[in-house]
Amino acid sequence: MRLTNLPSEFQKALPILEKLQAAGYEAYFVGGSVRDALLERPIHDVDIATSAYPQEVKSVFPRTVDIGIEHGTVLVLDGETGYEVTTFRTEDVYVDYRRPSGVTFVRSLEEDLLRRDFTVNAFALDSSGQIIDLFEGLADLDHRLLRAVGVPAERFQEDALRIMRGFRFAASLGFTLEPATFEAMAELAPLLAKISVERVFIEFDKLLIAPHWRAGLTSLTVSGAYDYLPDMAEKGAALETLRDDFTEDYQFTSSEQAWSALLLALNIRDVKPFLKKWKTSNDFQKAVDQLVSAYRERLSAEPSRQLVYRYGKDCLLLVEDLRQAKGLSSQPALIQKLDEVLPIHSKQDMAITGRDLIQDFGITPGPQLGDILDELERAIVAGEVENERKLLEEKIKEMHW
Ligand code: ATP
Ligand code: MG
Repeated sequence: MRLTNLPSEFQKALPILEKLQAAGYEAYFVGGSVRDALLERPIHDVDIATSAYPQEVKSVFPRTVDIGIEHGTVLVLDGETGYEVTTFRTEDVYVDYRRPSGVTFVRSLEEDLLRRDFTVNAFALDSSGQIIDLFEGLADLDHRLLRAVGVPAERFQEDALRIMRGFRFAASLGFTLEPATFEAMAELAPLLAKISVERVFIEFDKLLIAPHWRAGLTSLTVSGAYDYLPDMAEKGAALETLRDDFTEDYQFTSSEQAWSALLLALNIRDVKPFLKKWKTSNDFQKAVDQLVSAYRERLSAEPSRQLVYRYGKDCLLLVEDLRQAKGLSSQPALIQKLDEVLPIHSKQDMAITGRDLIQDFGITPGPQLGDILDELERAIVAGEVENERKLLEEKIKEMHW
């Protein structure tokens, strides 16, 4: 099959293939970008595979960066764009179900394509637009099937992360898992426990924010694979609730929002310890924690100035979005309005500081100082007093302390 209209991303990268070819090497576009071009989906990251060894790639191009030379990857810079150019390779024995003990560079495209995970991820595209399809991936694309390259069980045993990638691609592409592939994923799911949590997180996160996340979640629950994810053992029923609780076609707008919905479905009270097990960043933990708290508070309260002040507009709009998708009342416009009328958005915006209180009122640092500031903050947010130094000083004089 020949792609007649090469997408502009490939056209732009053609000189890279041509330079490698002119130097006597083979070079192809490979991986997700070829799949996405065939599906007429937007293309990101054009990856290139070549028979040239990394040092040879570096000698062909004036501007390169060593980004993973031990795996055969050199970043070739072309104006503002960087292309990952990776030497054809095979992966050596897998010692622990995750990373190969090493990679071997080879000169054959076929060997390189054989190590790839799914047939639709194993296309190569040459500079004339010809698609190289060694594993009937084109037929699988037509049938919207996700099928492992080769013998599924062997492939998942080599690298168990592929099991998670299978669920993830089912969710992002909306493809059905080919039965033998799915069976092997379910059977070998216990190996997921051996994979680094960070890598599993990336795949599960991509699954949750994908357009067909419900389908991905269904495969995950039916397979029982969730049992081998951090703190998710025996949580199948909760995952089904998550899947069924939202209006059809709903898609999460951010990772933080998706994980909040997951934690709410799992009914997890201690957000941070759970996310720590998933080895997420502190910022992520904080954002999800805030969203979950705001969501819970909003269950029994209408939006108010204090709520908007405490959690911020952006967080509450994500909460309203979740509420709407669950068929609950939702008031995004009110939240926008409340945010606009808020006189301050944080303590730093207050026209008086703790230092002022100590200097001008002789209050000694300690809990009392904090109480007074808290009361002033509350009163400003509620609109009981304007955020002006003079008026705040008068308010302090009226206060009993
Ligand atoms: P995305 O659009 O999400 O980036 P992708 O298909 O490009 O999807 P990547 O993770 O970027 O996926 O990997 C690029 C290519 O490398 C894949 O298409 C696949 O051919 C191969 N690949 C990546 N990870 C694995 C793996 N664990 N096992 C086998 N092949 C893999
Ligand atoms: Mg990619």
